[in-house]
Amino acid sequence: MNAHATPDPAATALPDPSAGASPVMAQYFDAKTRQPDALVFFRMGDFYELFFEDAQKASVALGITLTARGQHAGAPIPMCGVPVHAAEAYLAKLIRAGFKVAVCEQMENPAEAKKRGSKSVVHRDVVRVVTPGTLTEEGLLDARGANRLAAVAVRGGQAAVASVELSTGEVECLATGVAGLASALAALGPSEILVPDRLFADEAVSQALKQAGGFVQPLPQALAEPAASEARLKRLYGVETLDGFGTLSGAEISALGLIAAHLETTQAGKSPALSAPRRAGEADVMAIDPATRTSLEIEKATSGSREGSLLAAIDRTVTAPGARLLAARLARPLLDPAAIDARLDAVAWFCERRPQRQRLREALKGLGDMARALSRLALGRGGPRDLGCLRDGLAIGEAVAALFDPAQNPLVAPPEEIAQALLALTPGLHPDLAQFRALLTEGLGADLPALARDGGFVGAGVRPELDQARALRDDSRRVILQLEARLAAESGVALKVRHNAVLGYFVETTGKAAEPLFAAPLNATFIHRQTLANQVRFTTVELAELDARIAQAAERALAIELDTFEAWRDAAVSVAGDLQAAATAAARLDVAAAVAEWAEDVGASRPVVDRSTAFEAEAARHPVVEAAVRRAGEAFTPNGCRLDGAGAGGPRLALVTGPNMAGKSTFLRQNALLAVLAQAGCFVPARRLRLGVVDRLFSRVGAGDDLARGRSTFMAEMVETAAILTQATPRSFVILDEIGRGTATYDGLAIAWACAEALHETNRCRALFATHYHELAVLEQRLAYVANLSLRAKEWNGDLIFLHEAGPGPADRSYGVQVAKLAGVPAPVVARARDVLERLEREAQGPANLDDLPLFAAVAEAAPSYGPSPAEEALRVMDPDGMSPREAMEALYRLKGMLS
Ligand code: ADP
Repeated sequence: MNAHATPDPAATALPDPSAGASPVMAQYFDAKTRQPDALVFFRMGDFYELFFEDAQKASVALGITLTARGQHAGAPIPMCGVPVHAAEAYLAKLIRAGFKVAVCEQMENPAEAKKRGSKSVVHRDVVRVVTPGTLTEEGLLDARGANRLAAVAVRGGQAAVASVELSTGEVECLATGVAGLASALAALGPSEILVPDRLFADEAVSQALKQAGGFVQPLPQALAEPAASEARLKRLYGVETLDGFGTLSGAEISALGLIAAHLETTQAGKSPALSAPRRAGEADVMAIDPATRTSLEIEKATSGSREGSLLAAIDRTVTAPGARLLAARLARPLLDPAAIDARLDAVAWFCERRPQRQRLREALKGLGDMARALSRLALGRGGPRDLGCLRDGLAIGEAVAALFDPAQNPLVAPPEEIAQALLALTPGLHPDLAQFRALLTEGLGADLPALARDGGFVGAGVRPELDQARALRDDSRRVILQLEARLAAESGVALKVRHNAVLGYFVETTGKAAEPLFAAPLNATFIHRQTLANQVRFTTVELAELDARIAQAAERALAIELDTFEAWRDAAVSVAGDLQAAATAAARLDVAAAVAEWAEDVGASRPVVDRSTAFEAEAARHPVVEAAVRRAGEAFTPNGCRLDGAGAGGPRLALVTGPNMAGKSTFLRQNALLAVLAQAGCFVPARRLRLGVVDRLFSRVGAGDDLARGRSTFMAEMVETAAILTQATPRSFVILDEIGRGTATYDGLAIAWACAEALHETNRCRALFATHYHELAVLEQRLAYVANLSLRAKEWNGDLIFLHEAGPGPADRSYGVQVAKLAGVPAPVVARARDVLERLEREAQGPANLDDLPLFAAVAEAAPSYGPSPAEEALRVMDPDGMSPREAMEALYRLKGMLS
């Protein structure tokens, strides 16, 4: 996690601005005082300059030279700067290093300032504060990854996580319990998290935020107060009432209000094009806590890179928004079988239509990131290329809709998900959108600059006055060339007409050749302007007049272009809703077709997801390990797995044994990943899968030290195990690998034993429990719904061969010594280990008579319940001082409700 931005007192300790600052520096102090905890990028001509402490920090972080500018209070002012045209790269570096940057722009040009008086300083203002969660520039964003700003709030024992992806305008809100905050945040993977400071002071909450991994930004409690939040939210959306968003809870309003407050400050009043908050509750998405997410490597591998993750293995999308949508679906699998089926229908439809699917994918390849382009335009940061992206995107949308036009292709009607998407892309159904597109198709040029102020993007024939100004400008250029030829002929001097920003157009010759121009009669025409080492520069009355005319015409042409750009920009914002819908539709089609493509590649099948508690996988594979094994030229062995939470169709807890390297972890994860894929609405790499919806998925696999958070392997393992035992429900799915390994043998065995019993008796969830303790095998006889499974290996000529085959019954031995041999442990050590093992086995030093233990149920009844209850959790974070009497009453009822 990045250090959260507590203002550094040294950074804010500015010299007293009143102490004789120059007018420009006074402006700087003003900006800095308003943004004490951000680095101020102070625009001066072609540079953003940083001063004082900011300059010292930035010069170190960016590796640029620290210089000085003038003096303040008798000391030189430390300064460093970055050129405006390259500012994005520097910004990216500073944001990654954990800084916030306030961009203070020149709000007028020097000529405008002069009109107010010769001593006036150019007016400057902070136009934006750049933070990790509010990036919108292509250069600062990962095209295939989301960049979310999240906010958490708790009111009356209920919690909410709101999030916005400013680069696309998507807003979401998840209502949850306090205990669900970590999972909810982890599902979003935000880059920045806003939290009321009073809530941040709560140890459990701050832990949850740290686990989510974003840049944590505590904000004053007052910003989360309901009335203020509501007002700000209405302002953000430009609505009179929030009723249109459904009944938002107090926590949801506070969380959304924090986001509104942060956007107000960071976007300096510019309003982004935001979608209405899409709301979800805990009953809508599978809860996957941060530890499980990391261990299953869903979106990222443990190394932190995309490579090696489930997402990377299945991602065949051809557009960046499609890639982001697929990632979001994998991150938040659904719980409603009907909603899951809707997605599966779309995939199945594309599976059956290979040629159309290929044509669709071909067409989508050219699609730009419309949602991000639109968002930049709405925030006043867009350029002609963003308009081009919208124009071309709509054209592609039309082509895509035509591909599946029912009139032309008498196909079976597409399923709802696809039909909806096609409707959003059919131009005939969106007259405003079609009109907007016509505007751009007719007016916007082909070769587009990134910035509007570079001009040249408005086509000919769009605005007559622009054509006139351009003709004048271009014609004058021709006249200049004629003038150059004439002046050269008349004077007999080899001269050229050149142009620069300071002198405008001028006549230039080399030193020697210039001599006649200083003498009569030529000196009557040629007026000396400048002498450089090798060149001498002159002007003439005629040239000066021409220069003014050209400059005026160019200026006028640019002004008209900028004006046109603004009109088009406004037009884009006015159809923002339709544009967002079109962009989302294209992303959905991309995802459905991509999943179908992957399914065909790897032979994945459609899962059956229902409300049972079954788990029936036949001939299933691990998508990531399989790809790796294949790359190594080997075959992956498919394995089935049958569990049932109700204990009807199979055991609910399977104890998985087998030697090291036999494939236990792979087997465990593969089954968990099947659940993720199926509920995300993807096909699964299995011959068949029937899955009763999993409400919470838990994985505790492998032992990783979490030293950064001060926990040893064993402690980390126990913390995660505790979370599983207190939260897993009969609908949950749990995989546990090698529990109790990080401590002494008997300790470990005892813990593993107790955990297995608790999962079976108390949690009653579906669980796969891999263990080295063969002693646990007897649980099969003692508990009703336990089965032993093992991954097979056989010894052949003294060597160990892994079959990677899961079958009933426990493993006969550990084969640790054989694995050591395989790993290249020197032969004498292996031989000695065999001796010791034989001796130990002969003397049977294992734990004796575990069979005599009383049954878990008998002991558990007397034991206290696990962990804090939801009611206790809710009480702990309740803030009586911050509640209205009505909220207090509501909270009381909710607490009472929790007891039942
Ligand atoms: P364990 O957890 O039993 O030590 P792993 O699951 O880590 O074993 O698997 C070890 C290696 O065996 C994997 O990296 C993979 O290369 C290979 N493997 C695992 N399962 C299979 C399988 N079903 N088919 C083929 N190879 C497999």
